Amino acid sequence: MHNVLAMDIGGSRFRVALFDDAGRRLEVLEGETSRSGGRDWMLEQLRSRSRELLDRSDYPVKACGVSFGGPVDFRQQRVNSMHVPGWRGFRLGQWVEDNLSLKCLVDNDANAGALGEFRFGAGRGTESVLYLTISTGIGGGVVCGGKVHRGKDSMAGEVGHIPVSEVGALCSCGGRGCLETVCSGTAIGLRGRGLARRKPEVMQRTIELASGNPGQITAEAVFRAAGEGESGALLIVREAARALARARINITAFTAYGTGGESPIRLLVTSPARAKKVLRDLDMRVTEEDVLRLTLPDKPGTLAMVGERLAQAHINIDYSYETVAKGSKTADLVLAVSDLAGAAKALKGL
Ligand SMILES: [Zn+2]
Repeated sequence: MHNVLAMDIGGSRFRVALFDDAGRRLEVLEGETSRSGGRDWMLEQLRSRSRELLDRSDYPVKACGVSFGGPVDFRQQRVNSMHVPGWRGFRLGQWVEDNLSLKCLVDNDANAGALGEFRFGAGRGTESVLYLTISTGIGGGVVCGGKVHRGKDSMAGEVGHIPVSEVGALCSCGGRGCLETVCSGTAIGLRGRGLARRKPEVMQRTIELASGNPGQITAEAVFRAAGEGESGALLIVREAARALARARINITAFTAYGTGGESPIRLLVTSPARAKKVLRDLDMRVTEEDVLRLTLPDKPGTLAMVGERLAQAHINIDYSYETVAKGSKTADLVLAVSDLAGAAKALKGL
């Protein structure tokens, strides 16, 4: 028997956890990321919490896996950047080996998530997994043909930089109108503050939720107000959901095609009851037949049409503050599978 240490470093939260050799989580310690503390503050948190867990472990700890909330050069085991300052070029894997005497592998959080779901979770038995992290920023991980697709510079699958609007806001990557500038928690807060300044009359409830100060509006306030039906907040959330749906269809078309044979899309939902309500509200008449149509690879138009309806319904189900704040989990996976029965069964849940 042996145990394994895991770290998850995000722009909003971080976690250190102990797992056994069968993949069961034994204990987790977590906290909020301090932006002003930068890299050194974070490393100190990781070191002290890891030591705590290592001391308490019943069995020897053999290795450490790190999921990092930003681009990672996998080959060099080096961090590329992050919203929190001081990380660029840092050899995080080496730091773990030096400070905790554990063999370590670092990857970005979306790749780690995709691989985790593929091996142990919702993606077991399939060959392609798309994993999205929708949080402070937006990241993506793609498993294709059973392997994480990283590309030459480890930047493949960074779906947050798919352009969704020609006139959108400037992105940290230098592009304009990237998915991340519309759908991330950061973007939703920013758009909320902008709309509240321009048209306070459609954002009254959102402003109230931000203690009456439009400058304090966060993504959480926007989602809450949208949930209560406020028109301005709803506009922002719907725009974000639509952009996310469109981007996801683009990605899915890439991962679903070319695998040969039938390529239906299976949607995973966490709450069938909620899904039903959303479908009713949106007047969606999605039938089992729609899913069957997805299996016709010679009709990409049908795929786009049905896919968008399904994806919008799905995103409206999962695209909540909880999703954005914690990063999307299993429910936000789109899996391309060659399993008709599974696809039909998943839709029956709706
Ligand atoms: Zn970008």
